[in-house]
Amino acid sequence: MNDKPETSYVFAPPPVPTLPVAGSAALFPVHRIYCVGRNFAEHAIEMGHDPDREPPFFFQKNPDTLVLPGSDFPYPAETRDVHHEVEMVVALRDGGDNIPLDRALDCVFGYAVGLDMTRRDLQGEAKKAGRPWEVGKAFEHAAPCGPIHPAAEIGHPGKGAVWLKVNGAVRQTGDLDQMIWKVPEMISYLSRLFTLRAGDLIFSGTPAGVGPIVAGNVMVAHVEGVDEVTFRVR
Ligand code: MN
Repeated sequence: MNDKPETSYVFAPPPVPTLPVAGSAALFPVHRIYCVGRNFAEHAIEMGHDPDREPPFFFQKNPDTLVLPGSDFPYPAETRDVHHEVEMVVALRDGGDNIPLDRALDCVFGYAVGLDMTRRDLQGEAKKAGRPWEVGKAFEHAAPCGPIHPAAEIGHPGKGAVWLKVNGAVRQTGDLDQMIWKVPEMISYLSRLFTLRAGDLIFSGTPAGVGPIVAGNVMVAHVEGVDEVTFRVR
């Protein structure tokens, strides 16, 4: 007999953030969202940095800022310069500390196409003042993301076109093979800094061509071999 008292909370805990899984009714429960900054040389250069001198790095978004497929991206508050960043998203089914490179892909459940939406003006002010990036990167609805496609079905894409269109016009283009940190490297490196867990998402960095959106725009984001997703700016 289990005579442990039932856990009670002082108020109802918030729901677990989830993403749908393609071809399954089961949901993927999200733990943390990590993002790789400046993982494409051309994007580092367009942001005014030298990719040979400054390696990629990590920041985080809050898991409850995910925007699910089929929903709109609401134009956020306190900004006049919101940018799109199309990224392949890596979804983990396992984790740990100090994961060796040759075990890293075993941790991957699947892949999705996501948008690392950015209040570029607030991020720029934070950079200039040497302050943290949350106001630029971790605001409400900052992480639109499509369904997760299991690696068991699509494999581990290492090459393939990445692009983003706004109202049908191509804004961003690149290829997965241009990523400075490949997927095993980002998992292994990140696991030295944080304990990775099942449910973690890694937004793997954006190619060149980031730019502003306005209400009414339709963003179509594509990663060859993964998915193509559409989010409308409301
Ligand atoms: Mn990004």
